[in-house]
Amino acid sequence: MAETCPHLAYREEGDGESFETARAFCTVTESFVQPMRADVCNARYELDPAADCEFYVAAESPDDESESPDGDR
Ligand code: SF4
Repeated sequence: MAETCPHLAYREEGDGESFETARAFCTVTESFVQPMRADVCNARYELDPAADCEFYVAAESPDDESESPDGDR
């Protein structure tokens, strides 16, 4: 069963902006989640973050460091 993405966070500021209400933030891409993708992040409508989000897959793949936001390069 799909669950809310473990990479999903809520922040009130980022991308050089701040908001009164916390917005969905992806810790993989280090950016706010677009409204349409938020349905995937929250596993709504039977969507599954692990299967339906390309960023999630990149973060879970130890062999693909080119997409890693924590890379030293
Ligand atoms: S964009 Fe993808 S990796 Fe980021 S929180 Fe949403 S489902 Fe997870």
